[in-house]
Amino acid sequence: MSFEQLGLSHAVLQALELKGYDKPSPIQEQSIPTVLQGRDLLGIAQTGTGKTAAFMLPSIDRLVASDKRPKPRCCRMLVLAPTRELASQIAKSASEYARFAHLKVVTVFGGTSVNRNRQDVARGVDILIATPGRLVDLTDQNALDLSQVEVLVLDEADQMLDLGFIHALRQIVRMLPRQRQTLFFSATMPNSIKQLAGQYLTDPVQVSV
Ligand code: AMP
Repeated sequence: MSFEQLGLSHAVLQALELKGYDKPSPIQEQSIPTVLQGRDLLGIAQTGTGKTAAFMLPSIDRLVASDKRPKPRCCRMLVLAPTRELASQIAKSASEYARFAHLKVVTVFGGTSVNRNRQDVARGVDILIATPGRLVDLTDQNALDLSQVEVLVLDEADQMLDLGFIHALRQIVRMLPRQRQTLFFSATMPNSIKQLAGQYLTDPVQVSV
């Protein structure tokens, strides 16, 4: 199976060529067609399996295909990550994958300047990568409108719950449109994640590697 066969656009394929990826990893092969169809996804996968590209590549294509509204605005895709390290790692990959798609990627997390975050999001964002705490700080200050989000990704969902982000997470999801695509990734599948998935995902396709 090749990336072309999975149905990705030229803009994304070009970025992958530049990255030097030859073929999709198992999680990518299983996830990309499902996400391209607009379905919700529950992925059981560890870091290092290529899960960032599994959710980012098809989402980039969907955002480009449905891009009709004027810029600037914030934001069309929201990726929540439990730690600063993961958020910045996702943002780096996302910028590389989106380089030919002309989508703006911004990352916000604790330990950085809130004012700088406010300026960054005010300039317009397509894909926002955030830790839950900092995102809530920004929405509390009315610096951010989440009512236009089309895709929500929860990465390392089990870690998110272990680190006590459940209240922030619930607060964030309440601000999102009900009509959206939701993608969950977790290394483990405890009951707490199953319950959360039951609440936030609609008829999800489950994949595991
Ligand atoms: P992730 O699990 O998303 O953190 O990705 C782990 C590492 O694998 C990152 O350094 C990616 O750049 C790399 N990677 C992801 N997908 C592929 C692929 N299809 N071929 C080669 N490397 C990849």
